[in-house]
Amino acid sequence: MLKAILDFILPPHCSVCSNLLASKEKAVCENCFNSISVIVPPFCERCGSPGDAVCNDCILHPHKFTRARAIGKYTDILRDLVLLFKYRRKISIGRKLGTLLGKIIQNDELLAKADAIIPVPLYPVAKRVRGYNQSEILCTEISTLTNIPTITGVLLQKRPTKPQKSIGSPESSLDEQREKRKLNVKDAFKVKKNERVKGKKLILVDDVCTTGATLDECAGELYNAGASDVYAAVVARAV
Ligand SMILES: [Zn+2]
Ligand SMILES: [Zn+2]
Repeated sequence: MLKAILDFILPPHCSVCSNLLASKEKAVCENCFNSISVIVPPFCERCGSPGDAVCNDCILHPHKFTRARAIGKYTDILRDLVLLFKYRRKISIGRKLGTLLGKIIQNDELLAKADAIIPVPLYPVAKRVRGYNQSEILCTEISTLTNIPTITGVLLQKRPTKPQKSIGSPESSLDEQREKRKLNVKDAFKVKKNERVKGKKLILVDDVCTTGATLDECAGELYNAGASDVYAAVVARAV
């Protein structure tokens, strides 16, 4: 009732283009959401960046995860949507992004066969401050669409880390940033209840992948705990 009155006095607008929202739309209009530039083949078979076969970056700096997929690049509308979801509490945008990522997983020959998905964890204090872990919201939608179950409470963050995008000045070289980001997340994660991941093919889920250091660190822990294969699925890739 209160929402109906509020919607009448202050009709909801699209958080991106400011146009009035239709009754079924939440936070973002269909027009804006459908303008996301989705990565289509060909893309690197390891990291999922646009290009052929295995990209140079993956040859020079091999990842621990065997394959990663992303909706698109961390630019334009996709960047706006991630920021609204992560820092402005627009959970409904996260749900839509989760469904879109779920479709990408469903159509990927390897990821579609995974046994479970695992959200990249937040340090408990960081989660309390934000009120939610954005990766867990993505996982809920992915599981609903794909029927691949989500495993939570197994991969944990055991010490605080800085946001990866804040590491390394924009002028520093990519190699320098890569090293600093690796150090930022080194030994920051642990797996408890190894038996829940042992022998399983897993998909790590996160919002943004920068150099892949966080995903590599988490993948390493899951392999140590006995996972048979670790893939990754992210909303956006920064490089
Ligand atoms: Zn819009
Ligand atoms: Zn690559």
